[in-house]
Amino acid sequence: MSTIADNLSTLAGRIHSAAAASGRDPASIHLLAVSKTKPATAVREAFAAGVRDVGENYLQEALDKQAQLSDLPLTWHFIGPIQSNKTRAIAEHFDWVHSVDRLKIAQRLSEQRPDHLPPLNLCLQVNVSGEDSKSGCTAEELPALAQAISALPKLRLRGLMAIPEPTDDRAAQDAAFARVRELQDNLGLGLDTLSMGMSHDLESAIAQGATWVRIGTALFGARDYGQA
Ligand SMILES: *Cc1c(COP(=O)(O)O)cnc(C)c1O
Repeated sequence: MSTIADNLSTLAGRIHSAAAASGRDPASIHLLAVSKTKPATAVREAFAAGVRDVGENYLQEALDKQAQLSDLPLTWHFIGPIQSNKTRAIAEHFDWVHSVDRLKIAQRLSEQRPDHLPPLNLCLQVNVSGEDSKSGCTAEELPALAQAISALPKLRLRGLMAIPEPTDDRAAQDAAFARVRELQDNLGLGLDTLSMGMSHDLESAIAQGATWVRIGTALFGARDYGQA
C-alpha cells in the first residue's frame, strides 16, 4: 500500500509534467488536499509530507478535524454545497470558500466574516455541464453575480470553481475546462484563480489554466462512504 507521502510525490510529478506540457510554471499550480471522510490523522500525515491547504465538504466534519489539528498551520478551504444556516461557521472558520453560487450566500458570508480576520477568499462555482448538476450558477447568471459579489466587503472574489461532468475523454475534459477559463476571461475582473481539476482530470485542468487542483482520491486513497 502506498503512503500519503508516496501519493503526494506522484501527484507532484503529475502536476509538473502537466505544467511542462503547457509551458506553465508549476509554482502557479496549487494542490488542495480534499480530506472529506478521511480522519484527522490522515491530514496530519499529509501535513508532514508537505500539504498546507485542506479542502472539506461537510461543515461539522471539518470543524471536528480543525479542532484536532489546531496545532498545525493549515489553510482551510470549504468546497461543499452551502446552506444558509451554515454561513456563520464557514465565515468564522475558513480561509477560502470555493463553492458559492448564490448572492444570498455571499452576502451572509460578508456580513458574518469576523472583523479580526482577513477577507474571505471566494470562488464562484459555475455549472458548465448543463442541467444535470444542481450546484453552480449558470453562465448567464455569472456576470451579474460576479459584479455584485466583488462589491461586498470582507470578501475577496478570486475566481471561478467548476466540477465538470466526470469523463475519461480528454477532449471533453479540455472543452469543459476551457469554457470555465473563457467565462472567467470574459468577466474582465482580473481574477487570479481557477479552481478546477480533480484526481482523474488534473492534467486537462492544468492545460486549461487551473491554479488550484482539488485532489482527494489520488492523495488519500478511495473514500469509503459506508464508514463515514
Ligand atoms: C471530493 C471532491 C474533490 C476530490 O475528488 P477526487 O476525485 O477524490 O480527487 C474535489 N472537489 C470537490 C468539490 C469534491 O467534492
